Amino acid sequence: MVQRVLSAIRARYGITVFFMYLGAFGIAFVGTFTLPLLAIGMVLASIFMLVPAVVLGDAIGALSRAANRTYLRKGVCPRCRAQQGPAFEPPVYRCAFCSAAFEADGDPSDAADTAVREPGLVSASPNAGR
Ligand SMILES: [Zn+2]
Repeated sequence: MVQRVLSAIRARYGITVFFMYLGAFGIAFVGTFTLPLLAIGMVLASIFMLVPAVVLGDAIGALSRAANRTYLRKGVCPRCRAQQGPAFEPPVYRCAFCSAAFEADGDPSDAADTAVREPGLVSASPNAGR
């Protein structure tokens, strides 16, 4: 539960902060004509709020990675909670069911699936290819 909440917050954190800054820009733009002191105060606040916003994003990322690692250690996919087989191992933990990929530190991985798999037994029947 905690892992899913952290993962959802982490996936939307950047765009949420962006739109909060965009909304603050709209307020400051109107404030330029009505209350110039408000606009000046908001410009200064935006500069000083950038560091806490980045630190909060890093903290959410660290908590999310830690929550993912507990599932990876148990051999369970953090996204779909399916128990994995022996192929679920570093450097990229890739789920056999939902194909979600995670790095060893718990970060979601964007690496392409390069696993080599044996072809199926489709062509093993006597009349295959005829
Ligand atoms: Zn999965």
